[in-house]
Amino acid sequence: MSLEEKRCRKAKPVFIEPVDQAMVENILKPLDLTDERYRKVMDVMRQNLEEGLHPDTHADANIKCFPTYVRSVPDGTENGDFLALDLGGTNFRVLLINLNGQEVTMESKIYIIPQHIMLGSGDQLFDHIADCIFKFMCDHDLHDRTLPLGFTFSFPCRQVGLDKAILTTWTKGFKCDGVEGHDIVGLLHQAIQRRGDMKNVRCLAVINDTVGALMSCAHSDRNCAIGLILGTGTNACYIEDLPNVKTWDGDYNEPKQVLINSEWGAFGNDGCLDFILTDFDRSIDKHSINPGKQIYEKMISGMYMGEIARLAIERLRKHNLLFEGEGSYHLSTRGRFYTKYVSEIEGDDVDNFTVTKQIFDELELACHNEQDCRLVFFTIDIYNNNCLFSVPGIACLLNKMGRKEATVGVDGSLYRFHPFFHDLMMEKISQLIKPNLSFKLMLSHDGSGKGAALVAAVASRLQKQEEAKNQSTEELN
Ligand code: ADP
Ligand code: MG
Repeated sequence: MSLEEKRCRKAKPVFIEPVDQAMVENILKPLDLTDERYRKVMDVMRQNLEEGLHPDTHADANIKCFPTYVRSVPDGTENGDFLALDLGGTNFRVLLINLNGQEVTMESKIYIIPQHIMLGSGDQLFDHIADCIFKFMCDHDLHDRTLPLGFTFSFPCRQVGLDKAILTTWTKGFKCDGVEGHDIVGLLHQAIQRRGDMKNVRCLAVINDTVGALMSCAHSDRNCAIGLILGTGTNACYIEDLPNVKTWDGDYNEPKQVLINSEWGAFGNDGCLDFILTDFDRSIDKHSINPGKQIYEKMISGMYMGEIARLAIERLRKHNLLFEGEGSYHLSTRGRFYTKYVSEIEGDDVDNFTVTKQIFDELELACHNEQDCRLVFFTIDIYNNNCLFSVPGIACLLNKMGRKEATVGVDGSLYRFHPFFHDLMMEKISQLIKPNLSFKLMLSHDGSGKGAALVAAVASRLQKQEEAKNQSTEELN
């Protein structure tokens, strides 16, 4: 179905009397945004990006724009076997990846990180990771091989080299002593050394999931220049020209570019997005574990989207516009209206609302009828159409880069499972970018695994080139 057809489907009158239309519109008004507001967000973001990239303003900048030290995207010549580690969500994975031109094959295994290790010492955590690598290598008979390793570590880090990343703060339930403020690759190598039986394993690169998304898409599409995460959280990285990176402390050799990890979730922490925040956003922030922090992330990401929808629905209910004014324990519980409900309702068949009714039943709403289905659908639809705050972010990056053609590699369940996210983003971004630019949005497949292997592959190719160059210089001398 084309977006046009989907729109037509939605254009059907969704209300039947006697709903008080004026009151509904009034309650949902904050969710209905204009292009003009998106453009204002773009302007403020542009300014914030510049602040992150400049040493005088970096310390106080919301959007930190950390250089990643990843300078090149894959050129398709990457070949061989690589190990990858993926830590940063609920699971820890070890992967063996074979790259052969466009062909990528991988085997992986998930290892549990027990709660006592998530909250234990850093040494315990990295000893556990080293144990898992050892077991994986035994299972795949890899002990006599020298394999470059790439590490996707998706926690906020200040990177000081391709293979050096200082953890700034633990998030997502981890809290291991002695890791914050330290280089996580150093800690991994120490743990490998303590074991003494994995001398051939060396981590060449550490990246986060945005870089993974960009690299994995760039492998098949050389135009890929942005990596975007729309999952539990949100973040984006993009390719920046070195002269624009005033905080850059590395070399100025070719290619004169570097991937920038924006850490844009913190956009708005200084109040610069207050002009656009709704009561719903403020309530989310107030009741979060980190009030005043990650404001942009709270407007966008999967962790909060369901809750924003719940707050809007609850407000309609309290005004007796839904469910005959009768709520339920679940509907009034924070976090209980899951983000997946938003995409499920949006994708529902408006002729029978089967899924929507099922969700109402799950929420134990005693009184619901066709009218309630229509109004909830309408609410979710307005919200989805107008609160795509990643849109001005991406448009801003595309304009800043000014590439005639650019691809955005996207990873995360929000983008993956929502029925119209892709189409809506395409439509809205097109309206906001400069007229001479074009772009694509591409789903990243297992960016965290494949991306880490590709970065390790590029690093190992460059290392070999460097060694060959040094050798020929020595021979000349
Ligand atoms: P992570 O970001 O932790 O790596 P994901 O990319 O899988 O993991 O994103 C998880 C988030 O996606 C959850 O917070 C949830 O809100 C959201 N999500 C999960 N399933 C769906 C779905 N079917 N539709 C929309 N969002 C979803
Ligand atoms: Mg993820």
